[in-house]
Amino acid sequence: MDNFDDIVKNIKTCTKCHLAKTRTNAVPGEGDKQTEIIFIGEAPGRNEDIQAKPFVGQAGKILDNLLREIGLDRKKVYITNIVKCRPPENRDPQPEEINTCIPHLFKQIAAIKPKVICTLGRFAFAEIMERKVFISSEHGRPFKTEHGNRIGEGINVFPLYHPAATLHQPNLMSALKEDFAKLQKFLTSPPPEEKEVPKVKENPLASVYNKKQTKDQIEKKDKQLGLF
Ligand code: SF4
Repeated sequence: MDNFDDIVKNIKTCTKCHLAKTRTNAVPGEGDKQTEIIFIGEAPGRNEDIQAKPFVGQAGKILDNLLREIGLDRKKVYITNIVKCRPPENRDPQPEEINTCIPHLFKQIAAIKPKVICTLGRFAFAEIMERKVFISSEHGRPFKTEHGNRIGEGINVFPLYHPAATLHQPNLMSALKEDFAKLQKFLTSPPPEEKEVPKVKENPLASVYNKKQTKDQIEKKDKQLGLF
């Protein structure tokens, strides 16, 4: 398996598709490579292209707030995109660009081995699930990748609306907040088989939460924020 730092270095210097000619910077991703949660968007935008960081514009601020409200920090998750270089004028990535670029993402996923992949927007959800998706009816609940999926079978995928969608449709913000609350419950619920085990086990995803915060403290804070 590729070393994670080598994967990042290869993305930064990649010229495999013509987006290399128009980008300012390739944007490999940012966060904790030891994490168990990856957030995946579509492609870098203007701010991301300039700063070489994912989700740093208005959508990034929304994502940061949503993470904070469920007790997560962007430093404790990994945030990236399906395509690593900005398509001109923020157009949709084209199929040949996706097909050329997505092996970088597969290597990142294989190196991190996340317990859950959170897709941001319909585009990322469809690419990860490798099927037609219906984000308006499928958002906010977990799915598993199917047999033959390029990233492996049985990987948890949790589809969310893209934070940028709320800039154009403010009414989606309440749905996005509810979905993040559901994500928090999903992350803090033990797997079904563990319910049969009398001995209490530490939740495998507990490490991504601030160690100073107990689950009760996080839930109390969320109630104060009006998420529940
Ligand atoms: S979009 Fe992906 S494949 Fe194309 S140049 Fe950038 S990193 Fe390489």
